[in-house]
Amino acid sequence: MNTLLLATNNEGKLEEIRAIFAGFYPRVLTLAQAGLELTVVEDGATFAENALKKAKEAVRISKMDALADDSGLCVDALGGAPGVHSARYAGERAGDAANNDKLLRALEHVDEPYRAASFVCCVALCRADGKTFTAEGRCEGRILRAPQGENGFGYDPLFWYEPFGCTFAQASAAQKNTVSHRARALRTLAEKLAMEQVR
Ligand code: IMP
Repeated sequence: MNTLLLATNNEGKLEEIRAIFAGFYPRVLTLAQAGLELTVVEDGATFAENALKKAKEAVRISKMDALADDSGLCVDALGGAPGVHSARYAGERAGDAANNDKLLRALEHVDEPYRAASFVCCVALCRADGKTFTAEGRCEGRILRAPQGENGFGYDPLFWYEPFGCTFAQASAAQKNTVSHRARALRTLAEKLAMEQVR
């Protein structure tokens, strides 16, 4: 009950999650630290479905409470695409550069006022006692016509965030963590856990 298993292979998320959930879980372990391997096909139609699928499978194999997330970029002019397909937008083996190129081509004839996009993240926490919590976080911006900046990953160089006056790839990791879709989803999830404790 005091240990939370992080059902992600991205160790970069560990410190952020430790900080947010310290009051509920003194110990947060990655899959690698727990000596576990999780193989889940992320074929859900929504971020929530994928996050829940990963968290539930992690509970099944570990018998620990588990947290999983799924995220991506949703572009208004593309009806929400690439959405749950963000990582594989330009193909199964395509990397960030190919995904960004495909996005730029898809928006080639879309004028500035219609280039709005949101990063979306859904987090799911499934407890070993069967109780499940989910939360969503969003961060709104717009897609540029050419990449700017070297930081971050994925679509960050194309994502202009007006309150910062730069792209996510020009912001520092610490700056991005204050407003990111992932941070917002995690904070909302922590609020839901806190609400449950006072009930
Ligand atoms: P995941 O859910 O963290 O695996 O993210 C899926 C995909 O969505 C990534 O491969 C990226 O293409 C995109 N994505 C998610 N979050 C971000 C972000 O913060 N910046 C840039 N791209 C992101």
